Amino acid sequence: MSDWKHFTLEAKIAYFSMEIGLSADIPTYSGGLGVLAGDTIKSAADLKLPMLAVTLASRKGYFRQEIDKDGRQQEYPMVWKPESIMELLPTKTLVTIAGRDVKIQAWLYRVKSPTGGVVPVLFLDTDIPGNSEEDRHLTDLLYGGDQEYRFKQEIVLGLGGIRLLTALGFTIRMFHMNEGHASLLTLELLNRSRRLFENKWDERAAWDTRKVAEQCVFTTHTPVAAGHDHFPYDLVERIMGEVVPYPLLRELGGSDELNLTVLALNLSRYVNGVAKKHGEISQALFPGFEIHSITNGVHTFTWASPYFVNLFDDYIPGWANEPELLVRVDSIPDEAIWDAHCGAKAYLFQFVQESTGIDFDPEVLTIGFARRVAAYKRGDLIFSDLPRLLELGRGKIQIIFGGKAHPQDESGKEMIRHLTEIIGRLQGSLRMVYLENYNMEIAYRLIPGVDLWLNTPTRPLEASGTSGMKAALNGVPNFSVLDGWWIEGHIEGVTGWAIGPPPLEKSISENHSDADANDLYDKLQRLIVPLYYQDRPGWVRVMKNAIGKNAYYFNTHVMMRRYVTEAYIR
Ligand SMILES: *Cc1c(COP(=O)(O)O)cnc(C)c1O
Repeated sequence: MSDWKHFTLEAKIAYFSMEIGLSADIPTYSGGLGVLAGDTIKSAADLKLPMLAVTLASRKGYFRQEIDKDGRQQEYPMVWKPESIMELLPTKTLVTIAGRDVKIQAWLYRVKSPTGGVVPVLFLDTDIPGNSEEDRHLTDLLYGGDQEYRFKQEIVLGLGGIRLLTALGFTIRMFHMNEGHASLLTLELLNRSRRLFENKWDERAAWDTRKVAEQCVFTTHTPVAAGHDHFPYDLVERIMGEVVPYPLLRELGGSDELNLTVLALNLSRYVNGVAKKHGEISQALFPGFEIHSITNGVHTFTWASPYFVNLFDDYIPGWANEPELLVRVDSIPDEAIWDAHCGAKAYLFQFVQESTGIDFDPEVLTIGFARRVAAYKRGDLIFSDLPRLLELGRGKIQIIFGGKAHPQDESGKEMIRHLTEIIGRLQGSLRMVYLENYNMEIAYRLIPGVDLWLNTPTRPLEASGTSGMKAALNGVPNFSVLDGWWIEGHIEGVTGWAIGPPPLEKSISENHSDADANDLYDKLQRLIVPLYYQDRPGWVRVMKNAIGKNAYYFNTHVMMRRYVTEAYIR
């Protein structure tokens, strides 16, 4: 059976990402970056773009989270079997890792759109007889293991990915690196760019970096220097050997350490951040490179709750493959919007009841906060002043939290302990719950079902954020610090509300936690709670604006059209 062969003729753009979140049962994602990759691929399929994607099989997934009675996160492998839902491609390839040959195979998954578009996704896998026991586990853990393990995975993804595409017979024109993890692919392209007339290996002029850059697009996601993967050269040499001469590698990837972001920057003709602000921050981090911005989006059809799918189908036919039509949201009657929202809310509360035993009140303003738990996301900002929170919120608000901390992130785990401790302490005064194992399935139920979506990152560390876009799509207004995409989506009191001062700081060290917390309480008390309870038509107006002024634009269809016209074809 080789009905995949036609892909080798069609696919011209290869999207490389360490993690891809297509659905909760393929647990090869940890958070926003992976979900974005999945949404990207789904929109590419809808738009029939000639793309394919390459990622790692991550056979033990990210992890399944349980939280014990003391608030401690317990982690369990999320083992999944590519063989049960995917097709093994017949060709294998080899990379050298720590002096050993490592075989790589790929599982093919087809992302199919109702439009008839299909985008193949290749899940690279080293669990092959003949590989050493150690190497068979290289594609097990997503973001697990130590620095060496990470670098080995990046060799599998970058070098292995390109070699496998070639072995399978693909002729790719454009390589899109989603974050620096994949940037070792440029070394393989460099090797191919060597001018044949020049056979001296270390002759700089023989290496055609411009030719490589013509084929590469790079999206950076990380707004702090330390967040970019970097490795000492002795480790690089020991594990990767010499793929291109070291003087050249140091010229392109950093003189002191190999920095995968710097490597990608030097070898891409188009580089972008994931929101306007993040483009500027990245530009300041990497002066000398031209950094553009293409703001992230979400895949509309994936993230609209069933209640809004029905509603949009009735009033805005064609919305799923042309989300810009959501600008016509005012053609939907207010009552129909509110009814759809109440459906989503009941659907969420049923889930909360089943998983925690706690009954939430459908009449009460419900705030949602869930995402990867990292200190900079400040999940506990709303708990800064508990007496004040109780004074304004008792009987008037209820809150649902969720999120996983990276297994090695002690401050993130401490945050979960802190949040669950306060949730327990305020039991009886303020109805709150922390949902375990936040993933795409839970996000799909949680985000549309709350009334208000809260986000409180420390600026400017939220590169884009996408959960707020999922909220807006379902008529859930954002209440967020002005960072990432919200700087572009926010119109005060119209699409939602800002927390804290305007985003004018020049450095990461400025911290507005007190002002932010104060503003959070103040706006809840003065504006949001009264609007919700006393002016339902006014509230529905904000819901509609979230759809018509946010969701129509912050989606991966718009984003992909921009990548095509601004990055891929130029
Ligand atoms: C959308 C999504 C995210 C991204 O959330 P942010 O608030 O943008 O960080 C993370 N995890 C899951 C499971 C998601 O669906």
